[in-house]
Amino acid sequence: MASLREGLKRTRQSFFGRIAQVIGATEIDDDTWDEVEALLLQADVGVNTTMQLIETMRARVRREGLTRQEQLIAALKDELRKLLMEPKPLNLSGRELSVVLVAGVNGSGKTTSIGKMAHRMRLNNRKVILAAGDTFRAAAIDQLKLWGERAGVPVIAGQPGSDPGAVVYDAVSAARARGAEVLIVDTAGRLHSNFNLMAELVKVRDVLRKVVPDAPHETLLVLDGTTGQNALTQAKKFQEAIDVTGVIVTKLDSTAKGGMLFAIQRELGLPVHYIGIGESIHDLVFFNPAAFVDSLFENGNEE
Ligand code: GDP
Repeated sequence: MASLREGLKRTRQSFFGRIAQVIGATEIDDDTWDEVEALLLQADVGVNTTMQLIETMRARVRREGLTRQEQLIAALKDELRKLLMEPKPLNLSGRELSVVLVAGVNGSGKTTSIGKMAHRMRLNNRKVILAAGDTFRAAAIDQLKLWGERAGVPVIAGQPGSDPGAVVYDAVSAARARGAEVLIVDTAGRLHSNFNLMAELVKVRDVLRKVVPDAPHETLLVLDGTTGQNALTQAKKFQEAIDVTGVIVTKLDSTAKGGMLFAIQRELGLPVHYIGIGESIHDLVFFNPAAFVDSLFENGNEE
């Protein structure tokens, strides 16, 4: 299992660690801020968020007369933390059956994240069932079944090419019959010219609502952390079609673009619930803003 600090190594080494060096090196002037700005942009913090951050930092440094490196880094960490929301716990209790709809484009890490999430919930003694709602790819059904086995939770699936609505319907019946508390629904994610992904998602959600009127209780969007600002554009499209309630950002271990987390929260106004920091079943951690910001700067013996 990767640690958060280990997972964020690339982002730290490439950008935030360098920012710490830049602002500690000499007296702070316009060139320093330009350099910090460039590094934030390269880390995929996003233009708007970066501009706001630089402006706030310049004003704060002036107002508080900050000069020492540790003061400057502490102030920057503080301002970065303020950009992040404390995630609310997922709204998955207080009713017989809670439903989580999981969306995201193919390859984003959707199936993997569902498997990891199911595993976490099972360890917390929750009775979970998975629905293989991406019936368009035989491989997606097989993958979900594999993750179900790993996590020790049942998977309800149909034949490849069958109607996803029917699978969801069956999964709700199965969940009720078995007394499951949480049903996690995988959905299609293909971006194909002859396929309207958003219309398909709306259809699945509507079927779900017919059988569980207040469902889905959470609609989580899985975003690939390595795609940086593109993920943001994608997220806006999902947000327009379905009411996304929160985000899972994957692959933060294999990218230097961890700065996208700041842009997601500020520009989309969506909480990040989990982050993926590796490929194993344990590599999904709750998103904790303070721990995240610390891990971006923490230095130690880096090779
Ligand atoms: P889906 O098409 O969205 O369901 O994507 P998958 O769950 O099949 O994942 C696509 C690839 O990303 C697989 O090779 C996963 O092992 C990999 N992956 C998913 N999450 C993570 C993560 O947090 N870190 C790393 N390094 N790889 C991940």
